Amino acid sequence: MTDRFEAHDYYLMDELLTEEQKLFRDSLRAWLKKDVSPIIEDYYERAAFPSQIIPGLGEYGCFGPYIPTEYGGAGLDQITYGLLMQELERVDSGVRSTSSVQSSLVMYPIWKYGSEEQKQKFLPKLATGEFIGCFGLTEPDHGSDPGSMVTNFKDMGDHYLLNGAKMWISNSPIADVAVVWAKNEAGRIHGILVEKGMEGFTAPEMHGKHSLRASITGELIFDNVKVPKENLLPGRSGLGAPLSCLDSARYGIAWGAIGSAMDCYDSALKYAKERIQFGKPIASFQLIQKKLAEMVTEITKAQLLTFRLGQLREEGRATTAQISMAKRNNVDMALKIAREARQIHGAMGITSEYSIMRHMANLESVITYEGTHDIHLLITGMDVTGIQAFS
Ligand SMILES: Cc1cc2nc3c(=O)[nH]c(=O)nc-3n(C[C@H](O)[C@H](O)[C@H](O)COP(=O)(O)OP(=O)(O)OC[C@H]3O[C@@H](n4cnc5c(N)ncnc54)[C@H](O)[C@@H]3O)c2cc1C
Repeated sequence: MTDRFEAHDYYLMDELLTEEQKLFRDSLRAWLKKDVSPIIEDYYERAAFPSQIIPGLGEYGCFGPYIPTEYGGAGLDQITYGLLMQELERVDSGVRSTSSVQSSLVMYPIWKYGSEEQKQKFLPKLATGEFIGCFGLTEPDHGSDPGSMVTNFKDMGDHYLLNGAKMWISNSPIADVAVVWAKNEAGRIHGILVEKGMEGFTAPEMHGKHSLRASITGELIFDNVKVPKENLLPGRSGLGAPLSCLDSARYGIAWGAIGSAMDCYDSALKYAKERIQFGKPIASFQLIQKKLAEMVTEITKAQLLTFRLGQLREEGRATTAQISMAKRNNVDMALKIAREARQIHGAMGITSEYSIMRHMANLESVITYEGTHDIHLLITGMDVTGIQAFS
């Protein structure tokens, strides 16, 4: 599939970006067009991750964009991090997911809450992609309510003994290290680094996904796993620790969803101008123009919301609720645009000749993971009323 994507910048957002930010975005876009777009559909159909792109993702700063350079990260600002996520998801949500998990759910907690030894051991290798990481929070019986998790560890004197299971874990079957959230004997949640090859630890792949097929998803099973004590993240405990990682990842998702929407809009605009029915391009019909006009309006609103959120995040002022609003709004916006774009493409819209159906199916995962659409609504509701309506 030739990647004909052109970005549309209706409100001249590029004028708000620095030259460096544009350079990072444009270099990544060019590499993705050349090396990833042509192969992604095939990998998606085969439900496989194109692991040959891992070194490239490392080189373009997509593993730990904002992690300091002393630990191998790219040392970039939050807007650049967002732009990288936008470009990745413009190609495929599964590619963005791999980068999000590695950056915000694995490198971020090690950087924020890890010991110096843990940072030195894991971060540089995660930054290049030599190591792949995964993040185990969700359990078979505990999704939106991770605080009720049952995975647990006992202090055995010279090591911890870990038992339990995690499900729906992105990249678990290929991961070298898993950041696992588990309860100690007092019921307090801690992060533990579980390494590939530890006895009693397995990570079987989950099959049968109709969404996010170019990303590998699996389980994490712990059967009396002996974990060295130095693998506990010492810097923070409690549910707030994993939730802070989710803030960083959800911020990236808010940008990523704009990428999917931009791709669907550009494809629909081109198709509408080229496709002739009743002797005219379908773009000349009012109902098609309504769809296109609404698409570009919603993308522009999402870009403005997310850019401001990036500024707040860079200043350390973005709240969890503000991030929830952007994740929820942008993923919903992208999913609606994918559906409208699919209609504009007529029957062609369901084929693998266009990226639309893949984006649409991918976004069905994105709207559920990292907090469902409704849970994010409840977070906004709680923020504005001061009343928690989850339980
Ligand atoms: C492809 C994919 C990759 C994933 N990767 C990871 C990963 O790497 N690591 C990880 O830890 N997890 C991962 N997840 C899991 C994901 O975060 C969970 O699926 C998500 O948190 C929702 O949990 P659940 O699926 O168990 O749904 P449930 O929590 O069972 O929710 C089902 C429905 O009930 C609604 N609901 C639940 N509680 C309430 C309430 N109080 N009020 C109103 N409605 C409610 C939800 O909104 C939803 O509509 C992944 C999921 C997918 C699909």
